Amino acid sequence: ETQLSPLAEPAERDDESTLRPRDLHEFVGQPRVREQLQLVLQGATRRGAPPDHVLLSGPPGLGKTSLAMIIAAELGRPIRITSGPALERAGDLAAMLSNLAEGEVMFIDEIHRIARPAEEMLYLAMEDFRVDVVVGKGPGATSIPLEIAPFTLVGATTRSGTLTGPLRDRFGFTAHMEFYTPEELEQVLRRSARILGIELRDDGAAEIASRSRGTPRIANRLLRRVRDYAEVRADGRVDLAVAQAALAVYDVDDLGLDRLDRAVLSALVRSFGGGPVGVATLAVAVGEEPTTVEEVCEPYLVRAGMLARTPRGRVATALAWSHLGLTAPADAPG
Ligand code: ATP
Repeated sequence: ETQLSPLAEPAERDDESTLRPRDLHEFVGQPRVREQLQLVLQGATRRGAPPDHVLLSGPPGLGKTSLAMIIAAELGRPIRITSGPALERAGDLAAMLSNLAEGEVMFIDEIHRIARPAEEMLYLAMEDFRVDVVVGKGPGATSIPLEIAPFTLVGATTRSGTLTGPLRDRFGFTAHMEFYTPEELEQVLRRSARILGIELRDDGAAEIASRSRGTPRIANRLLRRVRDYAEVRADGRVDLAVAQAALAVYDVDDLGLDRLDRAVLSALVRSFGGGPVGVATLAVAVGEEPTTVEEVCEPYLVRAGMLARTPRGRVATALAWSHLGLTAPADAPG
């Protein structure tokens, strides 16, 4: 249903690894992050020491995992991948850390979801390249300090605001990822089309890019859907007309809203007079989980200027009314 979630779908994983940029040169967009990261990596290489720990912060699907892999590739070192939710017990983290060889990169996705004991172990590991392993239980328990090889931690988070201060402070460099411009997404699409052997015209690329919500993962997903349409119902070539016809079939409108986004707006406007209404009530009205409405639909609706989050609840803006072909009441926010 949610065609345009920025989260990866399981079936997408294989394609994602084919389409991942392999080095900073292939990584499209994010010019500031690329320049900053290049300096961090080159500085470290000159000194012959592992670079500072790096935090990658930004919404899903913008390339954090790709960048982590690129950091390891640029350093010519292996990467060990895990995630915050997987590190439930400090022992799991201790095992990973003590297996690292000098200069290796450890990537922790969703690092804001790491459990407290593992997080505390990470402080010492990041700062002193040491872990304290607790052996035994109760009054007889002792803690044995264990040296670990100097390594670089790359953490990724969609919510840097929820990271604890002590953890945030231990990263030497934080990269803030931004949504991509339509031009950058066209570049992503042209590169993906080349890799997948799709004939993509400029006007087709522009059309897909403008509906991709600033997110490379969504752009690549829409490209695959449009390719299906082009191969089945046309001659395989993706141009403006094919892109428009295909995206109409998949219910992706010209502003990049899908059926669920429009259902949320429509409920807000038609059933609740434009709000304010609580997100839980809104979710019931469209038959979805509140977290889906909150984390998948709302960020883009807010960014597109169609929905406002107020202390009293969600409110439709004048743009939301007009997007649904309705006249906004005089008190709708602009
Ligand atoms: P999540 O946190 O949800 O895993 P992410 O931010 O780590 O998302 P990636 O998995 O790195 O995102 O990127 C998703 C896909 O988007 C990749 O497979 C890649 O094909 C594409 N992509 C992302 N960023 C870029 C980029 N700058 N240039 C080219 N392709 C990109």
